[in-house]
Amino acid sequence: MKKVKEYLNTSILTKIVIALAVLLTLVALFLVITHSAPVSDQKTVASSDTCKTVVVVASGDTLSGLLSKQGLTHNQINEIAAVLKKNGVSGLRANRDKIEFLRETDSAPVNKIVVIPSPWRQVELTCDDAGAWKCNTINVERDTRAVYKSGVILDGDSFYLAGQRAGIPAAILADVYDLLAFEMDFERDVRAGQKFSVLYEENFSSGAKVDNGHVLAVSFDALRGNVKMYRFKKSDGSIGYYDEKGNGAIKSLKRTPINNAKVTSSFTTRRKHPVLGFTRAHKGVDFRAATGTPIPAAGAGRVVKRGYNSGHGNFVRIRHNGSFETLYAHMSKFAKGVNVGTAVKQGQIIGYAGSTGLSTGPHLHYEIIKDGKHVNPLTVKLPAINNLDTKNKEKFLEYRRALDDGIDYLAEHHNMFIVL
Ligand SMILES: [Zn+2]
Repeated sequence: MKKVKEYLNTSILTKIVIALAVLLTLVALFLVITHSAPVSDQKTVASSDTCKTVVVVASGDTLSGLLSKQGLTHNQINEIAAVLKKNGVSGLRANRDKIEFLRETDSAPVNKIVVIPSPWRQVELTCDDAGAWKCNTINVERDTRAVYKSGVILDGDSFYLAGQRAGIPAAILADVYDLLAFEMDFERDVRAGQKFSVLYEENFSSGAKVDNGHVLAVSFDALRGNVKMYRFKKSDGSIGYYDEKGNGAIKSLKRTPINNAKVTSSFTTRRKHPVLGFTRAHKGVDFRAATGTPIPAAGAGRVVKRGYNSGHGNFVRIRHNGSFETLYAHMSKFAKGVNVGTAVKQGQIIGYAGSTGLSTGPHLHYEIIKDGKHVNPLTVKLPAINNLDTKNKEKFLEYRRALDDGIDYLAEHHNMFIVL
């Protein structure tokens, strides 16, 4: 934070340092590009004293399978798995994790294993003379830079296409999309001429870019005005996104769409169905509600289904963002004007409670679907609405002004970055 301000308030010297850093990065990148070998699943590099085999975890690989292939015994594999688990490595991720096996010579047994579960962490296992495996975790130092990209929607464009054209990485675009999806409807609110920008982190190690970090600030000229969001860490360490004024920018879902409604049946993977008689999962939560009780949308989104099936009766399904959908069942009727494709606000009435479908009496059956899977609405971790107290708000506003100054500077000076 301070660094931004100092940087902004001063100083030609800092700018020179940053320009030099950019230059060094380009040189480093050039070196990396010209010297990197073609990628292969497994490569063995022999040097004078040790022999190293690097394995990139492929889909279907298991730790024991990979260790066994390297000649480790059943007992050794169990011991290694236990040591790794103790150090936070319990599973392998295909196409992401790497394991290095080191030997004294080509034919010697493996005496050192390096598991690389992220570019920022290495877990080293070394076999001592007595045959026991010792563990050492190394955190790779990273330097994080904030970079800025901006673009404009063209005729017939989608936000995604315009974002790609602006050079925003796909993963960052996905994050931006998720953030803005609580505020706007990307299918209906996007028009030619709208401008957008994003400030996000790039992580470097030894001068080379490794990956992207967080979205720090977003701006979008939406139909209802400019939407801005800033990532901010409160004094208690919790992180959230806030609008220009410091109000929580993420509009979360409501766990109980009808205020004060009593839960009459909870989420479970097995229960005896009251009508069918046999045991089956209850993929939602039931709330007591008299016939005709208005049902509000749990969050802003778009209606993706409105119809009838024998189980749910009259139901509405709403998509809220890239991850979350909600479903409301057993309605006596739908609200006027709520159709497939309708954009709804949080709290907007979408229908009325009833007992249609497989139901023993009037109630609201409510489901939250996260990434295509049913989750317990009462316990699922939801994006929280963060509101700032006076002290944090003051801090936020100061931070936001400095960040805005940084953004203004970067908008004029492409290929530069700031360090926060
Ligand atoms: Zn139910």
